[in-house]
Amino acid sequence: MSPRTLAVSAGRPARTPGGSLNPPVVLTSTFVSQGTPGAGEHLYGRIGTPAWEPFEEALAALERTDHAAAGLRADGPPATVFASGMAAIDAALALVPVGGRVVVPRHAYQVTLVLLREQAERGLLRVEPVDVADTDAVVAAVHGSDEPAAALWLESPTNPMLEVADVPALVAAAHEVGALVVVDSTFATPLVQRPLAHGADVVLHSVTKYLAGHSDVVLGATVTDDPALHARLVAHRTTHGAIAGPFEVWLALRGLRTLALRVERAQANAGEIARRLAGHPDVVEVRYPGLPADPGHARAAAQMDGFGAVLGLRPAGGATGADALVAAVELWVPATSLGGVESTLERRRRFATESLTVPEDLVRLSVGIEDVEDLWADLERALTAARGARA
Ligand SMILES: *Cc1c(COP(=O)(O)O)cnc(C)c1O
Repeated sequence: MSPRTLAVSAGRPARTPGGSLNPPVVLTSTFVSQGTPGAGEHLYGRIGTPAWEPFEEALAALERTDHAAAGLRADGPPATVFASGMAAIDAALALVPVGGRVVVPRHAYQVTLVLLREQAERGLLRVEPVDVADTDAVVAAVHGSDEPAAALWLESPTNPMLEVADVPALVAAAHEVGALVVVDSTFATPLVQRPLAHGADVVLHSVTKYLAGHSDVVLGATVTDDPALHARLVAHRTTHGAIAGPFEVWLALRGLRTLALRVERAQANAGEIARRLAGHPDVVEVRYPGLPADPGHARAAAQMDGFGAVLGLRPAGGATGADALVAAVELWVPATSLGGVESTLERRRRFATESLTVPEDLVRLSVGIEDVEDLWADLERALTAARGARA
């Protein structure tokens, strides 16, 4: 079945006359238990709960894991929901052997880079940043001069630079040397890109963004086809305790039902806005893999079913021009985060932790599902206002 259908149909309760169409919000910290617990029996809310499983089942189906067709297995679906995207990232990093070298995009989600740096300082791993769009450089880093990398961390498209990695080629190169491949697929969603199909070991999402889609919850998730890796991710969640709340997961599944409609509209809006911005006199540069002139275009067209709905804009006037643009919008919301139904924008390089190679005038736009003409009118007016503010 199409992922558009699975987003609606997966993770439903068994059909019973008079039964609930939707999974309920399950609020219990513990479960009745007598004698030796049976396989798949719930014990305690930190270890496993029916509150997580419908969402995990639906996400696993969307990522098209080998196990998805089997539905709920005794040890749960091959997706694992966490308290946040960062909790999922922390669990995935714990799969890297102690002291191992991790090859990572120099432009990745900034808190991922902070966590990697912190773990490197504690001697848990070594970090090697690369330009993820430069396939030869990434392959060389993965192979290493004297010792191969333990893991390849991919983000594609990257946050906030929208670089596109050659996922199939890089997964193959990493597996040649036995490196674990983790893909942060938050920007793409499973509708646009399915890294497990390219051979990645673990795919993860900040569910906060497109999957939940309404800017009302913070959640994360991992998905893997490998039962041993899945067991370790679940064990990490149980031991470290970064568990998702039942109501948040219920909201995320409710949001997931409209994923296809939201992503399709947001992508169409993003493509149209990127095209109009590219020809605008007050714009220095637009980064969007959907633009034919974008350096990531051919690669994205080959490996993705669309180009996502995040774009990078460098307005005229440097950081001052970018700040003036963000101050002038009325419909677009100045806010961090992305992937909600509402269009948001933010100037990057506002945070001390950001990579110094991110331009100071970069405004990241998360295009929502509003009418594109209203979005464009607001943006065009704000560009004109920003020009006035610079003059
Ligand atoms: C937001 C984001 C994260 C972190 O997720 P949280 O849910 O905020 O913890 C990780 N990766 C990417 C690409 C993100 O955009």
